[in-house]
Amino acid sequence: MNELIVNLHMHTTYSDGSGTHAALARAAIKTGVDVLLVTDHNVWVQGVDNYDRDGKKRVLVIACEEIHDQARDPQKNHLLVFGANRELATLADSPQTLISAVRQQGGLCFLAHPDDPALPAFGETDISWVDWNVSGFTGIELWNGFSELKSVARGKLDAIWYAFFPALIPHGPLLKTLARWDDLLSTGRCVVAVGGSDAHAQHMSMGPLHRTIFPYEYHFATINTHTLTPNALTGDLPLDRKMVFDALAAGHCFIGYDLPGPTRGFNFSAQSREINGIMGDEITMQGTVTLRAKFPSRAQIKLIKNGKCIKSLHGDAITYTSDEPGVYRVEAYKQYLGKLRGWIFSNPIYLR
Ligand SMILES: [Zn+2]
Ligand SMILES: [Zn+2]
Repeated sequence: MNELIVNLHMHTTYSDGSGTHAALARAAIKTGVDVLLVTDHNVWVQGVDNYDRDGKKRVLVIACEEIHDQARDPQKNHLLVFGANRELATLADSPQTLISAVRQQGGLCFLAHPDDPALPAFGETDISWVDWNVSGFTGIELWNGFSELKSVARGKLDAIWYAFFPALIPHGPLLKTLARWDDLLSTGRCVVAVGGSDAHAQHMSMGPLHRTIFPYEYHFATINTHTLTPNALTGDLPLDRKMVFDALAAGHCFIGYDLPGPTRGFNFSAQSREINGIMGDEITMQGTVTLRAKFPSRAQIKLIKNGKCIKSLHGDAITYTSDEPGVYRVEAYKQYLGKLRGWIFSNPIYLR
């Protein structure tokens, strides 16, 4: 299968980001990103879907949306909406109505930054997802590059330190969010995990200090969602858009954090006598199934079954033969800047 590096969840000047779609596209081309899913707050920007080119390199830009109820105080429940092809922000006061409408339109939706703590030093409030009785969503944003700052910085000085050294921020998805994902999976649902950047590239001034905090290029080089698609981008906009959304909807994707080491080339698959499957697939067991994950370089690897680690090792591959149904996924960690940090998080293979 073909691998596309997708950076999703980011803001432009249409909401609270500092860059235009063209500026984001230039940053994406520089960092080797194939697809940008741009999600301005409560506005679906039409007429910007396009391939931006620089010589032989190109990036596919698709306008999507991040929707929340602007009248709600305190603010909660941000929803990433992809491929709905119409403005649905007017439905934001009821998360379930909104989710159902997105699905009815053939779109996908992901609960954004499900656990998002406050950062009082900067007036940032907790904007977690709170309406957990909803159903029908495609998945969750397991790892959010921007909101992780709110979990590692304890005060203003910390936050300024991280603004200058952003590579120190990413440690992995919040443990609370990982546990929540496993809980959702334990109900028998397929819940797709994606990694978002939540890039804003905001300008900050403090006395003589002026800085763009977390430039788009930084975000695009760090946490991405890699989709596995049947083909490379074809240049046909509707076809390529559908191919990317189909891969996300099916969970044919993984989250990769590239600063500790390139994550391109990772795969996780299942083989039995009759059936082959990849991440996101539901496989009805007939006899034993061999699960295999192959990594682009060595890391600390964990194989997780139904939320519990059943095998771990240091290496570049892990294999496990199972005769039991379960939700199987893999996580990998690498040493980087003095700490063991999250590197690759696969979507599950569902053995039923
Ligand atoms: Zn948000
Ligand atoms: Zn956002």
